[in-house]
Amino acid sequence: MINTFFKIRTLKGKIFFTIFIFFLLFFLFAFGITSKVRNILLEKELSILNTEYYSFLSGYEKSLLDTSFSLAASIATDKDLKDAFLKRDIKYIKKKYSELEAEIQTNTNFKDFEIFFYLKGVKPFFNVLPPDMVTESYLQKMKNLILNVEKNNRFIKSFIVTSNGLAAAAVYPLVYNSKLIGSVGVSIGLGNIKNIIKDANVIFLIKREYVPTEEILKSYPIVGNYVIIGFNSNAYLTLLSNIDLNKISQIYKSKFIYIYPLYSFNGEEIGRIVIIKDISNLLYDLDKTISYINLTIILLFFFAVLISNVGLYYIVTKPISNIIEKFEIVKKEYSKYLDTKSHEKVKDEILKLTIIVDSLITLLNNLRELDRFRKAIENDETLEDVLNRIRNLIEKKFRFDKYAFYMVDEDTKKFTLKFLKGYDVPFCNELINNEPEKCRAVKTSNIIISYKEFPNLCKYFCCYDKYHHICIPLFLSGKLFALIQLVADKTEDVRHLDKKINLLVSYLRAALPIIEAKLLMKKIHDRMVKDTLTGCYNRIFLHEFVERQIPILKKYNIPLGILLIDIDDFKKVNDTYGHDIGDIVLKSIAETIRKSVTKNDYVIRYGGEEFLVLLYNCEPDKLVDVAERIRKNVEKLNIVTPIGVLKKTVSIGAAHFPTDSEDFWKCVKYADIALYKAKNTGKNKVVRFSKDLLKEIDKEEDEK
Ligand code: GH3
Ligand code: MG
Ligand code: MG
Repeated sequence: MINTFFKIRTLKGKIFFTIFIFFLLFFLFAFGITSKVRNILLEKELSILNTEYYSFLSGYEKSLLDTSFSLAASIATDKDLKDAFLKRDIKYIKKKYSELEAEIQTNTNFKDFEIFFYLKGVKPFFNVLPPDMVTESYLQKMKNLILNVEKNNRFIKSFIVTSNGLAAAAVYPLVYNSKLIGSVGVSIGLGNIKNIIKDANVIFLIKREYVPTEEILKSYPIVGNYVIIGFNSNAYLTLLSNIDLNKISQIYKSKFIYIYPLYSFNGEEIGRIVIIKDISNLLYDLDKTISYINLTIILLFFFAVLISNVGLYYIVTKPISNIIEKFEIVKKEYSKYLDTKSHEKVKDEILKLTIIVDSLITLLNNLRELDRFRKAIENDETLEDVLNRIRNLIEKKFRFDKYAFYMVDEDTKKFTLKFLKGYDVPFCNELINNEPEKCRAVKTSNIIISYKEFPNLCKYFCCYDKYHHICIPLFLSGKLFALIQLVADKTEDVRHLDKKINLLVSYLRAALPIIEAKLLMKKIHDRMVKDTLTGCYNRIFLHEFVERQIPILKKYNIPLGILLIDIDDFKKVNDTYGHDIGDIVLKSIAETIRKSVTKNDYVIRYGGEEFLVLLYNCEPDKLVDVAERIRKNVEKLNIVTPIGVLKKTVSIGAAHFPTDSEDFWKCVKYADIALYKAKNTGKNKVVRFSKDLLKEIDKEEDEK
């Protein structure tokens, strides 16, 4: 049963099943009670019958015995009768008997009665019985009775067996002048009971040895030790042979049987009265009542099951279904933020609810994490930081171990591979680097999933024999910005990646506007900190740099080379060819300086035609080499102008931070002093600052 309960998939089914079982047990219990009630009611009815029959029979027994006694007594004390008995006057006795018989039959119910006289010595004198009825065995029984009366000189009341069946008898001693002369007896047959108990059948059972004649024994049926004497006795032969004759009352085949034992004067059981009452009507009424009750119970059962199920449906199942329905809508709407599998096959509402609540918690967690991710990106300083965070996201959160991340160069519109994981060379043909639009994902502006669509989806993917690929193009303001390619082993079950991709895309989409803002800010910032003529950084940048980077450089002991570059005799260019040509020269030399240093170094337009170069992580011994390289490159440079090719030189003062001073600005000042020295000693040269230069300056000032 418990198994069945767990096999049921829906809440409705489970509730129905539980209620059904509950009510079934309850009503089985109720049925048990009704069958008990039936038995109690029946027993009550039967016990009424029992007491009714008992009190009737015991009363009847008494009244029969008393009547026969008073008759016998009145005969025995009648003087005329006694005289007639002494004279052996049978005529008188017969006449008297007829009178008595007539009187009894008119005045009482007792129809079947007889009087018998015995002479002293137990000698039969007068009997109304026909002589053939008075057998030896009968006389023997009577003899015992009369002998007892004669011996004790007192009357006896007893049941006896007569030719008609059972009878109540009384024998009274006949005494004349204080002498016993004989005895007189009166017997009244019990057959009259049948007329009194009309609604039942009465049968007399007489013990075989008490049956008066052999003829009687032959003409009546026999059951066990009893002869059945009674009306229609053959009809009850089967019944009587099937019941327990020693039980007072019992039921056999819708008949109630009551048995009343009869004893003779000396305590011998001589026979029984069996009352058979048909109680099929009573049983029918009882069963009908009980079946009505049972029917009511069954109807109640179905109503109870129905009502409680309908009730529970409205109280529990329906609200839960409503909640599930609403949750499903929310879930669907936010499915892109979920990486859980769908559980459409689950039917059990509680399980469904649990899964939904689980996915809502996941959803909230994902949204919170997404929000945190977005905030983290907002606080990231540079685009590189943002990209690193995306890289972390792909590897740590989503655990993609094979992937490539391409970004589109804003100027060249080409792909540059930013990171590659899980493989040494990119999964895509190099051709797409130069022509990103050949990439299928870019071409279709859609996420491309190779295992979902046909194989060999994109002809630029290398390894369809081993891998599946998912390519996600990312667009910023409608322009292709980056592309993420996730690669999964073909042998793995890659189908579950679908939901992961949705979530990843959500993360990337959240990051995109921030990246866009960051790029814009970078542009604005670049514009602000760069000189429009030469493209070099300006003094705003220098001050920012000093403020932000110098503390970091100091902290990590990163040295900085400082070069102050001044174009030699620049005034002449302006004066000779005009400002426009001067600008061209300025631009050209600036570019040459930038090309002479690494990408990590900064070229700053410090003054009109003065440049400050900050050499990142430059050791003191390399300082002059770099400065020389710049100087030589400028010297070699052919400056193409509308008025022809010009040649220019530069002078460079070099100082080192923090070797020369831990104060950055002081180092700049030292570079300036070195530059001054270069200018004073012939120009087109590099002068490395030394402490001696300070003394020289002091001397010069003193001279002044
Ligand atoms: P020296 O070798 O001693 O440095 O000689 P110089 O002529 O370069 O000396 P000076 O520093 O006196 O001259 C700098 C000149 O550079 C002055 C100014 O006219 C010119 N200059 C400054 N900024 C610009 C600019 O943006 N464009 C042009 N065309 N000329 C500029
Ligand atoms: Mg100058
Ligand atoms: Mg100059």
